Amino acid sequence: MLNGITPAEALRIVLDHAPLLGAETIAVADARGRVLADGVRSNRRLPPCDNSAMDGFAVRSADLAAASADHPVQLEVVCEIAAGGSAERALCAGQAARILTGAPIPPGSDAVVRQEDTTRDGDRVMVVVAPAPRANIRDAGEDVDIGDQVLDAGALVGPAEIGMLASLGRSVVSVHQRPRVAILSGGDELVETDGDTSGGRIVASNSYSIAAQCLEVGAVPVYLGIARDTPEDIERRLRAGLRADLLVSSAGVSVGDRDYLRGVLEKLGCSLLFWGVKMKPGYPLAFGRFEGGGGPLVFGLPGNPVSAMMTFEQFVRPALRKMGGRRSLFRPTLRARLGERLQKQDGRLHFVRVELERDGEEVVARSTGNQGSGVLRSMLLARGLLIFPAEASELREGDSATVQILDEEFLAAPTPGFC
Ligand code: AMP
Ligand code: MG
Repeated sequence: MLNGITPAEALRIVLDHAPLLGAETIAVADARGRVLADGVRSNRRLPPCDNSAMDGFAVRSADLAAASADHPVQLEVVCEIAAGGSAERALCAGQAARILTGAPIPPGSDAVVRQEDTTRDGDRVMVVVAPAPRANIRDAGEDVDIGDQVLDAGALVGPAEIGMLASLGRSVVSVHQRPRVAILSGGDELVETDGDTSGGRIVASNSYSIAAQCLEVGAVPVYLGIARDTPEDIERRLRAGLRADLLVSSAGVSVGDRDYLRGVLEKLGCSLLFWGVKMKPGYPLAFGRFEGGGGPLVFGLPGNPVSAMMTFEQFVRPALRKMGGRRSLFRPTLRARLGERLQKQDGRLHFVRVELERDGEEVVARSTGNQGSGVLRSMLLARGLLIFPAEASELREGDSATVQILDEEFLAAPTPGFC
């Protein structure tokens, strides 16, 4: 087992062990946010036939070559074609068909004249423009042709993908499974939200924040409850999580007298690949997997609430995205200017919770205040996580640093860009 590795080394080990999950078939209507397990080829043309882009008249452009406002050309209206109607009757010279948007173009016609460029009088229509061939006609297959590869495996399904799948007549689609994450809290001091907090007991809030972090990344949290600080209770609850894809325990892989988690994991067949990552908050992070790859990946997160969220954020989140088939694994980052001086001495990489503010083209980052690993308010206020590199001991006001953007609201614009 590795001990005291860098965050970069830890991330590489985690991602090397995170498997791409298998496929499942779900309703297209439920597929938003999922990742396609297979590419999708079209079995049809879209649109299926040449059709009108306008309400107007289907014509033969040659008949109207000389038409203008000064010299309108008169055509005979021989039929009406609505969307969903059929266009069996071919147009002969001098003839037009009344046509509505989306209706099929009749044989013999090669253009549509907009209603606005015509005057109708019974079965006659006067046309004041000379349309180019194919004017106002949407060609069969101009969107999608038979055999086109319209979506690739690995595509993230959003509204446009769902619309396309529906257009192709698909009601179900094959996507990667959502990772199931078993979540365990451990400690005699912990209670549920409605529990008795006398005597210094606290709510096992990590289970809640971790479950929410799972949901945010599209994973399915499975709550294993609070294990008492005994090997028996830890083992009993861990066993209930062995069928998950990933198991997250907060608190317990440490060096305290009552830290039984590691021993229990080993008994169950899980070997730790590393313990201790040179970062702050979050040093006491453990990562392991079951021999033979049968069980879940196991993260022993630190107990302190900020450390638990931070180690989830940096390692569990990218692992879950990879398992669920996502191509992009990380948060957006940007370079920000420090609005104040930061100092440290410990040779670890610090993830500084920062507030962000725009200053013209630049972004200014300032610490959210007390950065203690138990101070959950530092996460509450954080719009980003500033990376204070391990080797640096000081960042001066005005220096620039990389910031992971946690809060997508920060990227939202104050106006839509057109007003
Ligand atoms: P430990 O890792 O057990 O030494 O715990 C470190 C700190 O985190 C202690 O103050 C614990 O009370 C706290 N802690 C442990 N587990 C949780 C949890 N599930 N929710 C909130 N705080 C926790
Ligand atoms: Mg504990």
